[in-house]
Amino acid sequence: MASQRLIEDVHPSSESRRTHSSTLLARRRRQRSERSTAHLNAIPHGRRPYVEPIEELAFGYMNARCRHCHALHWLAERLKRSSLSSPQFSLCCHNGKVLLPSLPHPPQQLHRLFVDDTTDAKQFREKIRQYNCALAFTSFTAKELDVNSRGGGPWVWKAGYTIYHRTGTLFPNIPCTPTYAQLYFFDPLEALDYRMNRNDNLQRATMEALQNTLLDINPYKNVFLHAFEILQRIPSTDLSIRILADPSTDLRRYNIPTVDEIAIILPGQQDHAMDPRDIVLHNRRGNLEFIHDHNSAYVPLHYVLLFPYGTPGWTYGLPHKRTETQEGNESLMTQNQNTKHITQVQFYSYRLHCRENEFPILQYGGRLFQQYVCDVWVSTDQNRLRWVESHQPELRATLYSGLEDAVGHGEEDVNLHDVGHRVVLPSSYIGGPRYMNQRFQDAIAVARHYQGFDLFITFTTNPLWPEISGALLSLQSAADRPDLTVRVFNMYLTSLIDELTKHNIFGVTLGYVYTIEFQKRGLPHMHLLLTLSPHFRPSTAEQVDTMIRATWPDPIAEPRLFDIVKRSMVHGPCGPAKRDAPCMKDGKCSKGFPKAFQEQTVMTRDGYPIYARPNDGRVYDVRGFSADNRWIVPYNPYLLSRFDLFFSCPLSQ
Ligand SMILES: [Zn+2]
Ligand SMILES: [Zn+2]
Repeated sequence: MASQRLIEDVHPSSESRRTHSSTLLARRRRQRSERSTAHLNAIPHGRRPYVEPIEELAFGYMNARCRHCHALHWLAERLKRSSLSSPQFSLCCHNGKVLLPSLPHPPQQLHRLFVDDTTDAKQFREKIRQYNCALAFTSFTAKELDVNSRGGGPWVWKAGYTIYHRTGTLFPNIPCTPTYAQLYFFDPLEALDYRMNRNDNLQRATMEALQNTLLDINPYKNVFLHAFEILQRIPSTDLSIRILADPSTDLRRYNIPTVDEIAIILPGQQDHAMDPRDIVLHNRRGNLEFIHDHNSAYVPLHYVLLFPYGTPGWTYGLPHKRTETQEGNESLMTQNQNTKHITQVQFYSYRLHCRENEFPILQYGGRLFQQYVCDVWVSTDQNRLRWVESHQPELRATLYSGLEDAVGHGEEDVNLHDVGHRVVLPSSYIGGPRYMNQRFQDAIAVARHYQGFDLFITFTTNPLWPEISGALLSLQSAADRPDLTVRVFNMYLTSLIDELTKHNIFGVTLGYVYTIEFQKRGLPHMHLLLTLSPHFRPSTAEQVDTMIRATWPDPIAEPRLFDIVKRSMVHGPCGPAKRDAPCMKDGKCSKGFPKAFQEQTVMTRDGYPIYARPNDGRVYDVRGFSADNRWIVPYNPYLLSRFDLFFSCPLSQ
């Protein structure tokens, strides 16, 4: 009998084959159904009773090295297709496409001021923008926005969108005092006096040391001096000189400028730069001349303390790096006309990374580094806008037309003759109105499809994350390194989205949308809306309680959670205790703190929860005021403890 059954199993008859396959199908169906029930019955991580310890998220140290450019990374930044044992990176050099010369080690005097803990070095770093401005060859104009005068946070450099670098005339107009490049033609002591007269809050010894250093090593001093001497020999007051871009190979544009590059003397009218890579200098007459941001001298002529050797910045036509030659060696692909070129974003991303064996002079620049980053970003974005402006015919073809837009927007006073002069920003221009509108429509479509969102998560950078503090240079705080802050934020952000959407820590996720903004003080934060499958939607007070708390944790049983809540999840002080708090509007807290005591969570008629905030007598001292449960910002214990982040509340259906 047993052998008969075995034979039937191995060679089933058509009858038994049918039975067998239907049994198999039924079994599979049953297993699937059991699996999905088990999946639904399993309590997601973020909704289980909170018990410490929770495994904290950690990315370790920034010690993974790019094998191409030697930039330092966290392993989590590697390209997803690369392995942990052989990581590849794109942020630094586009996985080997970009190779720039290392920044030379700064001279001893400057190096000391960047790294020492002495009084003069500290003062230098605090006033570095002023020192730099006093020593620069070109002026810097921007509409600076004051966000620091109210105090209460790290120093931030913020400016409007337009930034100019300009050169003045080479000869000062008497009785005006000499400035910028003109000061490099004076006797050093006299130049120092002029510089100190304008900046009497700075240290004379520091200024003198910096001035002497730059006189010794900065190549632009000789270039400008040579131009000055040529114009001095010619008695006309109406001459200009044009420093030409080197017309030879692309590679040479990496090179430090030399006096040989000065070429043409221009009479009166033809005195504007013909090529963005040229610089025009006037003798006495003439306006301030803009330095085009495509000029490789745009950056080093102003940021003399970050590029003391005049290391050139980006210009167009810089070739991508290398390919393997027949001998297997890496060589620069200069001859191949099809080589793609280094973009501005690639160039400046490369410079923003710390590398082994390279002194991180930019990253030591503090406030000047912030200004530099904003400056080159504005230049990059302006470049995109110029491209859009010059490619309007093609863009209009795909975007219907400016005419249709103008009429479609219902503008009553449209003059059809003017419509053709509009510059249409395509939706591919990030941050433009079309881009924003398209993203907004996408989000609305997601919301409509899933009939609303269930959770609203706010996720804010924590400047105390160990990844940031572990990568800071000596004597730095997170405010000095916006580059690190955004990179670490991005790693946490990616992990958070993975936890929510792949590991389903609140239940099966159907859809989500998010936006990233930068706070007034520069730290990035994210708002994320998430919709859960109906089975996991929090619709009762009990379900809300599994996800959200708005009370003090137990300092004995939950010490980690207690510390994080105390540090970052208590609102205030505000109200009568601090009337000038940032949240105060018209004499009241705009966030509605302190909330009312509430014995247990209840759902209002419109579906909003009112969280439990019992008056249990627990009061702790936070930032100089006594905070009870009414001051706690709602949080999810699991996420808060795992990520050390700010977490906000569920929405109504
Ligand atoms: Zn690299
Ligand atoms: Zn408030």
